[in-house]
Parts: sequence; C-alpha cells; structure tokens
Amino acid sequence: MTVVNLKEQREHSFFNDVLQYFDRAAVFLEYPQGMLDQIKYCNSVYRMRFPVKVKDKIEVIEAYRVEHSHHKLPTKGGIRFSKFVNQDEVMALAALMTFKCALVDVPFGGAKGGVKVSPRRSSKEKLEKITRRYTVELIKKNMIGPGIDVPAPDYGTGAREMAWMSDTYSAFHPTDLDAIACVTGKPLGHGGIQGRTEATGLGVFYGVKEVLNVPEDAKKMGLTTGIEGKSIVIQGLGNVGFWAAKFFHDAGARIVAIAELDGAIYNKDGLDPEDVFRYKRENNGILDYPKAKNLANTNEALELECDILIPAALENQIHSKNAHKIKAKIIGEAANGPVTPEAEKILLEKGVYILPDIYLNAGGVTVSYFEWLKNISHVRFGRLGKRYEMQMNRNITQTIEQASGSKLTKFQKDLIERGAEEKDLVYSGLEETMITAYHQMRETFKEHKKIPDLRTSAFVVSINKIAVSYENLGIFP
Ligand code: NAD
Repeated sequence: MTVVNLKEQREHSFFNDVLQYFDRAAVFLEYPQGMLDQIKYCNSVYRMRFPVKVKDKIEVIEAYRVEHSHHKLPTKGGIRFSKFVNQDEVMALAALMTFKCALVDVPFGGAKGGVKVSPRRSSKEKLEKITRRYTVELIKKNMIGPGIDVPAPDYGTGAREMAWMSDTYSAFHPTDLDAIACVTGKPLGHGGIQGRTEATGLGVFYGVKEVLNVPEDAKKMGLTTGIEGKSIVIQGLGNVGFWAAKFFHDAGARIVAIAELDGAIYNKDGLDPEDVFRYKRENNGILDYPKAKNLANTNEALELECDILIPAALENQIHSKNAHKIKAKIIGEAANGPVTPEAEKILLEKGVYILPDIYLNAGGVTVSYFEWLKNISHVRFGRLGKRYEMQMNRNITQTIEQASGSKLTKFQKDLIERGAEEKDLVYSGLEETMITAYHQMRETFKEHKKIPDLRTSAFVVSINKIAVSYENLGIFP
C-alpha cells in the first residue's frame, strides 16, 4: 500500500501558479495596470486562531477566510477542512473562485475558507465545535452573510457542516428572513436544493460531453464524438470524483481505473463507481476490491493508457516529474489546480487537451447560486408553474390525438405531459451554463490566434467580464 505524501506535493506555491495564469492572460487585454492589479490580488485575507475544548483539553485551531474580489457581492467559496490547509492555498482557491464565477456568469465575487483540521481523524463532536466557532469568528468580522460572503462545501466538508454553519449564523441573526442563505450546499430539508450534492461531478460530465459533441474538437484529439465507449481514469472517489464517475459510467463510458489515498484499482472492462464507492465505505479504502487489480502505487493510475483523465482529489497532482508519462488525450480538471504550470507546458506540447478547473468544476458554484436564489426568494423552483405546465401539455396531447385520430401510448403521454421538478430545472440550468461557457472559452481561443491554450482563454474571458463590472461601477473610467 502506498500512502501519498501530501506534504511533499504542497511545496509548490499554488497562489503563484494562479498569478502566472492571470499574467499569461492579461497580455491579451488592454486594461490599465491599476485595473489589472485590482482584479489580480486578494482583497481581504483573514487568518484566525481560536480555542476549542476537546475531551477536557484546549486545542488551538488555525483557520482562514479569504475574499479575493468584491466586484460583485456576495463573495462565494467553499470551506476546506484538511490538516494541510495554509494561507497560500486558501488565497489561490479564493482567486480561482473569482475567475470561475465570472466565466460561468454567476454574479458573485470569489472567496475561500480553510480550517487546519483532519476531518478523518476527528470526532463528529470536535468537528461540530470547530465549525460553529469558525462561523462565530466570521460573524465577528462581518465575513459571512447572505449579501456579504456565502461559504459552501469543499474538500473535507459537506451538507452536515453547512447545516451547523447556517444554524450558528441564524442564532446570531434571529430576525434575518434570509439567514438561511448564508451558506449553500445545505441538506435538502434545511434550505438545500435538489441536485447540489452531485452538481460539481455533473458539471464535469456536461463539460467533457460538450467537448466530445463538437466533431472538430473530438477529431483534433483523435477521438470519435460522444462519451460512449471512452476509457476514463478517476483520481479521488470523494464527492466530485464519485459523481463524475457515475455520470460517465451511466452514459456508457468505461471507468478503467480509480485512484484513492490508500491505492488504485484497475479493470480494463470498466468499474461500477457505485459498487466501488460502497466497497470504499465498508472497507475504509478501495484496495483489494474483488472485481479489479490493485496498482502498486496509487499515482500510477494517472499514467495509464486512457482517453480521459479526471483528477478529482487535490492540487499539484500532475507536475513536472510525471507529466511526460501521462497518456490521456483529455485531462478534465475536476479538482482545483491538479496540473502545475510546468506540467501543463509539457502536456500541451504532447497535444493533450486540458479542460481548466475554473471551467470544469464550476458546476458546484453554479448550483450553489441556484440554491441561494431559492433561499432568498423563499420558494422551491417549479412550485408555481409545474401543474400549469402539466395541464398545458395535457391540452397538447389531447389536440394531437384529436387531430391525428389515433391514441398516444402511455409512455408518449408521460413523456410530453410531465411538468418540470426542481431537479429537472437545476440540471437544465447547469447544462446550459456548462455549454455556454465552453463555447465562450473555445471561441476566444479560436479567434485570438496567439492565445496558447484553453486555460489562458478562460482567464481572458473572465478578466474581461470583471473589468467590465468595474467600469460599470465607474471605478475605472
Ligand atoms: P472530498 O473530500 O469529498 O474527496 C476527495 C477525495 O480524494 C477523497 O476521497 C480523498 O481520499 C481522495 N484523495 C485525496 N488525495 C488523494 C490522492 N493523492 N490520490 C488519490 N485520492 C486522493 O473532496 P471534494 O469535495 O470531492 O473535492 C475534490 C476537489 O474538487 C478539490 O480540489 C476541491 O477543491 C474541488 N472542488 C470541489 C467542489 C465541491 O462541490 N465539493 C467544487 C469545486 C471544486
């Protein structure tokens, strides 16, 4: 069994990588340097330390909240729980959120939070105490609120932590009607939205699907159009990786390998992600899964022969030392920052098509935006229109039957008459968002012959939109 040395992988400055991406894109835009500086750097960085009593012992917890850009409010970004959280990482992730939101037209500034704690080695009680105290620290500094800064889940956190945060915030704001909109990614029964849990993985699926739906793009990579039959390797079977794997599998792709912290497993005929996920939960890891072969080193999975590689774990996974060994034709960055700039250079020279994180994992924040809209409008999507829509569709099927003189089958009727549920609307909004953003990024890449890659193109589109916001605010005439 190989245990991944996360510390070693974090020696790269992640924030520096994001600054490099920014600079690479900025040369294609004609904005004053002051405007570019305002867009590039973090607006507020808050580092805190607070005490938590665990089993009669006081532990001091280190945590962060970074608001990268206030050009639109509220700011938005997940909370990461990991013992490797540090300021550089939170700043990088906050900056990526700004560019991600702009790219997919989510009207928020970017932010991110991090708490230095291992969720896997901490009791539920300890995590609850930390989450609630962290929320209070944010309230004290006015760094949380439906119109101020709205956290969400990220690595190591989920709906449970968001419910604790929302409950703590509400206790301090008992008369605020919108208090529940202070975080997204909440449980369904507590202001959450259908489709949020799977949103990031589904967005990854929609993004890759759209690339392969464009015959010119698929051909460039030597691939046929469509997802069906494509071989896929997934790194990280957590929230994002599991859902992405499931949607690819359901669409007829072959998940040939899955890599996790304890090791990787391989089956050339394909793995069933739901079955592997069940196995992982029951055995605390994926090694020795009965329908696959173990790989000696978990990182070997990244170097396997496949059409699509989906790194969905953490940053800095594909670096200068392993980039030349990658055989995938497409790398879909489901995680934030999984490919370092040095690795990207090597991969682009090899002709690998890299779908950048600020595009590909934007599904989470997109559906978070829908959840926030639902919370501040205090009504479930589809509640007002569904029955009316069904009646209108029933009128259509009746008219078809009368005009044609023949009866539709029950299946045909159900297909036409069904009104949209909240989940249908969320999926539809997400698919539309991913398709539109891909084509904006792709068009810019094609039009500006000197833009070297899709990531630079994504940054050009984002920076441009943020600059226009500042101009509209009258800050930069
Ligand atoms: P998660 O904690 O649910 O899952 C991460 C998984 O990766 C875990 O199962 C972990 O064991 C595994 N892992 C960690 N290091 C690994 C390694 N070196 N090799 C193989 N497996 C490894 O986290 P998540 O929410 O799925 O987030 C994953 C990535 O996606 C992060 O970069 C996060 O910032 C990004 N992201 C998440 C969301 C979201 O909605 N959750 C949205 C956008 C981006």
